[in-house]
Amino acid sequence: MRAAWDGIDAAKVWDAHAHLVGTGDSGSGIAVNPAMESLLDPAQYARRLFFLNAGCAHDAPGSVDRAYVERMRNLLDGMPGTKLLLFAFDRTYGEDGKPDLEHTAFHVPDAYARDTARAHPGIFEWVASVHPYAPDALERLEQAKRDGVRAVKWLPAAMGIDPASPRCDSFYAFLEKNDLPLISHAGEERAVLGRDAHDYGNPLRLRRPLDAGVRVGLGVDGSASNDSGHMLAEGRQAMLLQRVALGASALTAEEALWIATRGGAAVLRREDIGALAPGMAADFVGVRLDRLAFAGAQSDPLAALVFCAPASVDLSVINGQVVIEGGRLLTVDLPAVIARHNAIAGGLLGRVEV
Ligand SMILES: [Zn+2]
Repeated sequence: MRAAWDGIDAAKVWDAHAHLVGTGDSGSGIAVNPAMESLLDPAQYARRLFFLNAGCAHDAPGSVDRAYVERMRNLLDGMPGTKLLLFAFDRTYGEDGKPDLEHTAFHVPDAYARDTARAHPGIFEWVASVHPYAPDALERLEQAKRDGVRAVKWLPAAMGIDPASPRCDSFYAFLEKNDLPLISHAGEERAVLGRDAHDYGNPLRLRRPLDAGVRVGLGVDGSASNDSGHMLAEGRQAMLLQRVALGASALTAEEALWIATRGGAAVLRREDIGALAPGMAADFVGVRLDRLAFAGAQSDPLAALVFCAPASVDLSVINGQVVIEGGRLLTVDLPAVIARHNAIAGGLLGRVEV
């Protein structure tokens, strides 16, 4: 593991998606939906076990909250300077602006995330979760801002938030004015149930906060389990989805590639990656155009890169280090890593069966 950090300044790395969970046994104010404690609802029970397993806190009865925070701290050992953004998690609210406890999977109060971060200032920052339909939403945002919050977190499908609704506008205006990013789950929500309003996870609904000038970050269930994390394939899919929704000229291959490279760097406010230029990190890949996958697609190699989305590259240089040459990974014993990954994934599935 330590070799993976060679050449990386850990102090510049923040994990921007760490859900703070627990059971409330420390007086944290965390509340868990009774369905998640009951064997009568095995899917919910399994989710609770999954979260607690992830925090290695399932075997610490009476001190689960504390064990989870300890586990987060232990994960950062050996990564001096790296920080975690701890996420609060607000309740589900109904259209009437009242808390909907039946459809609230769990509730992690802002104050708990704030106080946990304050107790460990070198390693944690905190992120509030404020439902925009709550009558006191703006007051809570003001309070969070005073308390040094770094961002606001939503799970629209679980919490019953329509990001395209005009009733979120004053919320967005606050975020824009105070330069607070909105981190939102998108896509089908399987990690946390609740309202199960999956259409609210449609990323196109986030056009409204974007138009209001809010910086929006997306989190999804998935890259660990149901896609390959293939950047060109994701770029191709983004392009095709835009064309399905908005017509054949909605997004060019060049624009899709821009989003995947320069756009990603801009979201991260990184000025050292995303482009090939003097002074930038030497991160680049090379793909041979005489591959079968590119046969007949020579007229515009850049477009072909997105349209053909080759499954692998022939050359990859990361921060100046050659990692793939002649299509072969030089830095890792790949068969051993694949076997270990499959063994761990299999073990995880075995543990959540009830
Ligand atoms: Zn999340």
